[in-house]
Amino acid sequence: MNAVMQDGFGRQIDYLRMSVTDRCDFRCVYCMAKNMTFLPRQQVLTLEELQRLATLFVGMGVRKIRLTGGEPLIRPGIVDLCRNIAALPGLRELVMTSNGSQLGRLARPLVDAGVKRMNISLDSLDARRFRAITRNGDLDQVLHGIETARDAGFERIKLNCVVMKGRNFDEVPVLVQYAIDQRIDISFIEEMPLGDVGRSRGESFCASDEVRALIASRHRLLDSTENSGGPARYVRLEQHPDTRIGFISPNSHNFCGTCNRVRMTVEGKLLLCLGQDDALDLRGLLRRYPLDDQPLIHAIQKALRGKPLRHDFTPQGEVQIVRFMNMSGG
Ligand code: SAM
Ligand code: SF4
Repeated sequence: MNAVMQDGFGRQIDYLRMSVTDRCDFRCVYCMAKNMTFLPRQQVLTLEELQRLATLFVGMGVRKIRLTGGEPLIRPGIVDLCRNIAALPGLRELVMTSNGSQLGRLARPLVDAGVKRMNISLDSLDARRFRAITRNGDLDQVLHGIETARDAGFERIKLNCVVMKGRNFDEVPVLVQYAIDQRIDISFIEEMPLGDVGRSRGESFCASDEVRALIASRHRLLDSTENSGGPARYVRLEQHPDTRIGFISPNSHNFCGTCNRVRMTVEGKLLLCLGQDDALDLRGLLRRYPLDDQPLIHAIQKALRGKPLRHDFTPQGEVQIVRFMNMSGG
């Protein structure tokens, strides 16, 4: 075991989620406000800085990196960045979370660059509702992206769906059926109180147990102890072995005890916990020490010792963290 990345509670940190942009072509209602101000360019890490940080973290023991955002696939140069990170000795897998809008053109280049798995957000199969939830999204374009990705050769594809009462809860069975038809996995996510998105989240909050009960009314579910290294709890469908259903329940089932991850914002802030404000500014150090990684390594190790034990979202929670999800990446 590599002890270089260990927190104060003895948890081994070997998973880094890196946001490569705060920008996005969508404005999902649970993630962003309608009118967003994005970061000025000089505050955003360059591709070279992202590459340097990835190299440093892999050198310290990170084995899995997920690139996210914002929408990672609208960052120019993303495929080359993926190729460079995927080639780092010691990295076990490079994976990504995307809204799918650019996968029609980029799925194959990403597989060739070494991206192993892809999580794709899909909250509705009804074009009007999809547009209402994403504010800008085109359902057909995303479905084309998902289907191109399915055929492109990723080791695994998983759909992510944030479930909201009054918006898409009734579509859960249809979304499950779509995942079955595509022979891919799907996870249902409880909405987290990150950023003031201009609406009350409590009204639409939907606990994973309700989602599970709705699926169980149509399919025989088999509990599974599988773990993909993330916070999802999985079930399998007795009749459809190719599809796993995941439940990500940050509010109703706290999963912090086994947390193995840290997050990096595109401004270079190392977030020790999605649900807490503690952060280390790595951009300042990166720019102050362009040729010397030691000060960064010391600062990261010190910050890790202060990683909080757990987050504390409450089910009906309103804004608890001022940061929007597109800053930290999902
Ligand atoms: N743009 C990409 C996408 O949508 O997949 C990657 C970034 S997005 C911030 C990552 C994931 O976070 C998505 O699956 C999204 O559904 C989820 N997400 C965003 N805001 C959320 C919130 N308030 N609560 C729970 N999940 C959220
Ligand atoms: Fe964009 Fe993803 Fe946030 Fe939706 S969830 S606004 S696609 S970053």
